[in-house]
Amino acid sequence: MKQCVKMIVGNWKMNGLASGLSEARAVSEALTAEPAAATVGLCPPTTLLDRMARALDGGPVQVGGQDCHAEASGAFTGSVSAAMLADAGARLVILGHSERRAGCGETDADVAAKVGAALQAGLEPIVCVGETLAEHEAGEAVAVVTRQIEGSLPEIPAGKDLAVAYEPVWAIGSGLTPTSDQIAEVHAAIRAALSRRLGEAATAVPILYGGSVNPANAADLLTIDGVDGALVGGASLKAEDFMAIIRAAGPGVAADAQG
Ligand code: PEP
Repeated sequence: MKQCVKMIVGNWKMNGLASGLSEARAVSEALTAEPAAATVGLCPPTTLLDRMARALDGGPVQVGGQDCHAEASGAFTGSVSAAMLADAGARLVILGHSERRAGCGETDADVAAKVGAALQAGLEPIVCVGETLAEHEAGEAVAVVTRQIEGSLPEIPAGKDLAVAYEPVWAIGSGLTPTSDQIAEVHAAIRAALSRRLGEAATAVPILYGGSVNPANAADLLTIDGVDGALVGGASLKAEDFMAIIRAAGPGVAADAQG
C-alpha cells in the first residue's frame, strides 16, 4: 500500500518579482546540500512560474500554481488552465484556498471541477479546506471540513497524486494557530472522510496543516498526530525561514546515498 510522504509547500500568494527568484534558488541549493525528509514545493505567482521552474529544473524543489481554471482553454480572459501551468513547468497546484473561496466566491463544486482539470493535466492538486473563526467558535470545524472534503473532490482515478491542506481561515496570516488537540481532531476527520471517499488509496494522501506556520512553531506543528506536512504562506518568502521549517520535518537521505 502506498504511504504518504511528508510535504512542505510554500504559497507566495501575490508576492514576488524576478528579484525574488534568488530566494527559491537558495532553497534549492540548501536542499541539495542538505536533503530533507519532506517533498518540498514552491508556488509563486503565475508570472514567475516558468522562470522559477527553469531556475530550479533538476533540483529538489517542485514548482506549483496557486489556482487554475476548470476548462483546458477558451474565452476566459485573465484565467490560466491546468495544462498551461503544467506547460510552464508546474507539478503542483493549490486549489480551493480560502482567499479564493471567500474572495472569488469559489464553491466546493468549483473546486472539484478544478481538481479534476488539474489531475487531467498531470498536476498534483493541494486541496485546501478550513473553517472560519465563527465556525471554529461554534465548534463546527470538523463538520465544515468534512463537508468541504466531500464536496471538493471529483472522482480520483487510481494512481493520481493528491494532497489536502487543513487551513483554518482565522489562522492564516494572523499569528494564531489552533491547539494541537484541535489540529489532530480535524486531521483525523479529514483522513476519515478521505477513506470513505477513496478507500485504501486515502493512506497515500498527505494532509498538511497551514496557518501561521513559522520557524518557531514548525517543529511542534509537524509532530502533531496526523500532520503530514505544512502549507506555508508568509514564512516561505525568505529562504532562511522556509529552510528552518523544512528542517523541522527532519533530515532526509541524499539522492546519491539512496539504494
Ligand atoms: C496560506 O495562505 O496558505 C498560509 C498558510 O498563510 P500563512 O502561513 O501566512 O498564515
